Amino acid sequence: MKGKSLIVAVLFISSAIVFSGCDRLKNKYNQNESFENFKKLFIESVWKNNPDWALVMGNHEYDERLEIPSKENRIRKTDVYKSLSDSLKKYDWKKITPENTVDARIMMNFLEEYNWKIYELKSFEWNPAEYNVSEGFDLILGNRNMSLEKKLVIISERLRHVPEYYIVAKANIRKPTIEHTDLAILQNSGALLLFEKNIPDSLEISDLSDNEKSELTNHLTQAKSSILEYIIFLKKIKASISKESGLSRSFRIGKTLYEKKFKFEMQSCFSTDEIYTKAIDHKKEIHSNMLNLAKQLWPKYFSNTVMPEGLESVKKLIDTLSYSHCVADSLLSEVKKQIPELTNFILQKKLFELKNFNPLEVRETPLYMRGSGAGASINAPGPYDKNAKTFYNVTPLYDYTDAEAESYLREYNYWTLQILNIHEAIPGHYLQLCYANQVDDLIKSVFQNNAMIEGWAVYAEKMMMEEGYGNNEPEMLLMYNKWHLRSTLNAILDYSVHCLNMSETEAKKMLTEEGFQTNAEANGKWKRVTLTQVQLSSYFSGYTEIYSLREEKKKEAGKDFSLYDFHNQFLSYGSIPVKYIWELMVK
Ligand code: ZN
Ligand code: ZN
Repeated sequence: MKGKSLIVAVLFISSAIVFSGCDRLKNKYNQNESFENFKKLFIESVWKNNPDWALVMGNHEYDERLEIPSKENRIRKTDVYKSLSDSLKKYDWKKITPENTVDARIMMNFLEEYNWKIYELKSFEWNPAEYNVSEGFDLILGNRNMSLEKKLVIISERLRHVPEYYIVAKANIRKPTIEHTDLAILQNSGALLLFEKNIPDSLEISDLSDNEKSELTNHLTQAKSSILEYIIFLKKIKASISKESGLSRSFRIGKTLYEKKFKFEMQSCFSTDEIYTKAIDHKKEIHSNMLNLAKQLWPKYFSNTVMPEGLESVKKLIDTLSYSHCVADSLLSEVKKQIPELTNFILQKKLFELKNFNPLEVRETPLYMRGSGAGASINAPGPYDKNAKTFYNVTPLYDYTDAEAESYLREYNYWTLQILNIHEAIPGHYLQLCYANQVDDLIKSVFQNNAMIEGWAVYAEKMMMEEGYGNNEPEMLLMYNKWHLRSTLNAILDYSVHCLNMSETEAKKMLTEEGFQTNAEANGKWKRVTLTQVQLSSYFSGYTEIYSLREEKKKEAGKDFSLYDFHNQFLSYGSIPVKYIWELMVK
């Protein structure tokens, strides 16, 4: 009896303390509750106005709607966003919690970025590859939480809008770049397979009525011919562009647009110029690490030859080590084999807490996603179907000539293929996105920051080496440094090409001579820098921020520093800009 009343007394006291604590917080953050409600309205409005994005993020409320990229649609969206921005400004950001202040800044960035894209960047005019309907259809067809019949009814409805979509797309295009025109032709041609094979095949095995089947087949035929017409339209543009130079524009966006795009996309604590300078310095540091490793390795591989001066020795060693690679046909199975090995390593070393991983499927990259120059990528489920599969896409080498395939396989050799898997899967993208899916805040899970995501994967590679993955073998470390050099050179390349007018020859010379890249890699990278802007800088930019934060935390904690705790806390905020994680962690 005595014991029991004591417990009651303790409970009473502690709840009283909690209550008064709450009350004080309530005064300080008196607008917080209303802000939480506003966040819900904000997200609902974003989905209503971006049905395709909703679908990608796993919200299936608007599956049958296809957003028509018309001028009217852009104007309507600008109006909606203006009123959202007005409401957001009415809140006193000091009277909401620090977590919500971060959300408010992320939301404002999103609204301002849209305006900038519509009125200044205007890629809807010059990038014909923005128009491709296949992803939505593929996602609906692949949804495992819906019956095939229901999916096909949705697909049928959605298909009805495809002709209008491509009419509007054609009307939007004005002075496109040659590079994006080529990509659009390639990817829209790849899209046809979905409408010629995947959807008809599913239709055949479904239990839809004959009427429904014939209606869908009609819609399919119309959609297919719209895509074909779009491809023909682009091919005509392509032909006229090559005759008259004034009809196309350069893929280089120039410094003014580049800086703005960097600001909106990265939300970094560094400027474009700072990142460029840091990348140049980092390149020198990596080269010096590589020279040290080359000294250790040289006698083992070239005992009878004098070691050449400078980077030449590094190049020779990389060339020799790159001969260890798998055959083209076993690329996919090699990747599959390494996933459990990496999982064991991070569990054994106690680097992460996470135990509930989403299912991961290693597969060949779908056709409509190929052609952008990336050999591997991750498709993670959105915040609305957190338990769905993550896909690890590996592009097969069927279309490569023998020489191209050899060059590619030397790039993804015995050592670097392991680093690729660290980057894409464990503990890189796949693991980070598993953590992000556990965040219970829609703003933070919806507005993902690419610099944080790519920076994390680059950080993961470095951290794994520091923790002794690959037994600190100098071969592994040399190849790691070569790999790490890649993200650094990506940043230099991106800035130099878009802001400093670097030529194709200069770019490829830098990538092959200073980055030790194969021709296949350098060609792919050149293609990417002509098709994207800022994206190639996200790796180095995000990595630099994350590593600086970790080193600061390490210094602060001294011998009490725990990598396990740092990782779990850092990843617990989701894929938000590193500067906000920094603020929230330091607080
Ligand atoms: Zn070979
Ligand atoms: Zn990545």
